[in-house]
Amino acid sequence: MHISDSLVAFARALVRCPSRFGEEEAVVSLILAQMTELGFDRAWRDANGSAIGIIDGKLPGPTILLDGHCDTVGVAPGVTWTHDPFGGEIKSGFMYGRGTADMKGALAAMIYAAAGLHRARLRGRVVISATVMEENLEGAALKDVMDAVRPDFVVIGEATDLKLNRGGRGRAEIHLETIGRPSHSSTPHLGRNAVHDMLRVVAAVERLPMQSDSFLGPAIMALTDIISDPYPAYSVIPSRCRVTYDRRLLPGETERDVLGAITDLPELAGIELRTAIAQGEHKTYTGAVLRGPKFLPAFVFPEEHSFVQTAARGLRSAGLDPQMGAYRFCTNAAYSAGMAGVPTIGFGPGREEDAHVVDERIAVDAVLVAERGYRGIIEAALAQA
Ligand SMILES: [Zn+2]
Repeated sequence: MHISDSLVAFARALVRCPSRFGEEEAVVSLILAQMTELGFDRAWRDANGSAIGIIDGKLPGPTILLDGHCDTVGVAPGVTWTHDPFGGEIKSGFMYGRGTADMKGALAAMIYAAAGLHRARLRGRVVISATVMEENLEGAALKDVMDAVRPDFVVIGEATDLKLNRGGRGRAEIHLETIGRPSHSSTPHLGRNAVHDMLRVVAAVERLPMQSDSFLGPAIMALTDIISDPYPAYSVIPSRCRVTYDRRLLPGETERDVLGAITDLPELAGIELRTAIAQGEHKTYTGAVLRGPKFLPAFVFPEEHSFVQTAARGLRSAGLDPQMGAYRFCTNAAYSAGMAGVPTIGFGPGREEDAHVVDERIAVDAVLVAERGYRGIIEAALAQA
């Protein structure tokens, strides 16, 4: 079989193996088997269940890590797909299925790119990670991979439509809670209704001015849920009400900035309001627990940053002419770049708007181009040091 045929066959095998977040065991086994078959020097499953594969160069040098998450979002019941979401069907140049664009196509391309390197000429080492649980807790599984392999450079393979992304918005999940006082609903004036207080909070928060960044786009504050307590309430004035906001972050925005903008609002004086960053806590399929605050900062590297330039050179040597871009959605780069401060770029086949949709798909050609692109980036990064 031609190398590109086996790459496409592998991408299809990944799509045919469902791997909703928390259920990645089978797909990780498939990835480890493929790494071993392709001649990786080491390939193992870490405590969280992520797959890690290493190719060692002949000469000492830096470590480059290419990361792709292997979990996907689910398939909503009752929504009809034209193509089987777990079929990996190829039609008119596109492969269809959950996880094609986000991001099994990229993951397959990375693994093949690393396997195709000329080891005798290689200095340093190449690590590929297929991380778990990115869809519900960005960055957490990648943190443990990075602690284990200590990369000098990171490439995130999330969809960029083959552009070179040197930035991305961050994300925070904010909980706001109003505290009232319960009373019988026949005498509401004896209590303090936490829902009424929350309505005032929401009205004020919706009026907050949001900054915009010419490169990353606007900061966003989106209300995603609301619940009162007790719920349901039987003849009682609710004493608590909680909302969740999804906040998309711009560079430099801290927890303090984001929460302080709300608590400092003068029109909320007199309301007992608690603000907090949500804490993520999720059990992986191995039984390990991933924890972390849901606050992932934005990141930007300037165009002239040496790793950005190196990656661009690598892509050009692979025959691409990459434009620079930035992620609108939050990726594992929010950890590697935003929190760990390791030089990170994004490069991947597929488009951001193809993630999480019905009839998710990826252009087969783009996967093949991405494989060449990844190899170009790796060679340029390791040759330079
Ligand atoms: Zn993704």
